[in-house]
Amino acid sequence: MARSASLDVQLIACTSFTPPADVDWAADETATDAEALIEFAGRACYETFDKPNPRTRANAAYLHHVLEVGHTALLEHATATLYVRGLSRSASHELVRHRHFSFSQLSQRFVHAGDAEVVVPPLIVEDEELNRLMMRAVDESRFAYNELLDALEERLEGEPNALLRKKQARQAARAVLPNATETRLLVTGNFRAWRHFIGMRATEHADVEIRSLAVACLKLLRENAPVVFSDFEISRLADGSEMATSPYVTDF
Ligand SMILES: Cc1cc2nc3c(=O)[nH]c(=O)nc-3n(C[C@H](O)[C@H](O)[C@H](O)COP(=O)(O)OP(=O)(O)OC[C@H]3O[C@@H](n4cnc5c(N)ncnc54)[C@H](O)[C@@H]3O)c2cc1C
Repeated sequence: MARSASLDVQLIACTSFTPPADVDWAADETATDAEALIEFAGRACYETFDKPNPRTRANAAYLHHVLEVGHTALLEHATATLYVRGLSRSASHELVRHRHFSFSQLSQRFVHAGDAEVVVPPLIVEDEELNRLMMRAVDESRFAYNELLDALEERLEGEPNALLRKKQARQAARAVLPNATETRLLVTGNFRAWRHFIGMRATEHADVEIRSLAVACLKLLRENAPVVFSDFEISRLADGSEMATSPYVTDF
């Protein structure tokens, strides 16, 4: 019987910043490296390292101003890499539409998927009968996958390269795997791209799975750059799932 996977997102890399020693400027101690770098980038544009405007002297005030005026190109200097597991292939297809991210995704051509876990949509998982229906379909497709794999490997017997033989068999057999099959991927993006992704995918209009991914990413990125993501407000929908919106991210 197929097992179900649950979403797991971890922040595994984030910008570190060493200001040039010969520039007379220092960020607030409360600012993270990513936040300090964004301020530095902004001040580099106007040579305002001496912080002449008292209203934006503090790093948090400076970043709030950047968000307010929409000078979000500065956010491109800070990046974060997240490792995502327990995501369905269908949700990952939505994720990879975001062109400013860099991805490294688990290969179904190299890795045997016959016992991969599946991500069951919440509407199905909470209903015993629907869950049984779904798992039966998953088991049937997995059975077909394994049968196809054996038959394909037999047909490709003449191929002396064992790795190539397996790859060719898997890339054909995977056609019957369900959209719900679990995938894993690394996603690297700059903070402008992350904000755009969260703005589009954490709203109530997005599919519940990618929405929960977007909210999970927001929470992790907030730990690393609280001010940069402070404008997103997380709330709950009637079904109990979370969503997030920002008054500054409205580009649909
Ligand atoms: C609720 C919802 C429903 C959706 N339904 C569908 C659907 O039915 N079918 C479907 O195909 N897709 C659908 N999508 C996906 C959507 O169309 C986008 O492809 C996806 O969300 C990526 O966002 P983006 O285009 O803003 O670009 P990203 O790749 O995230 O890029 C960010 C921004 O960069 C700029 N940019 C990037 N590339 C270019 C470019 N080539 N030229 C000019 N500017 C560029 C744009 O300003 C863009 O908004 C849906 C998305 C959502 C959130």
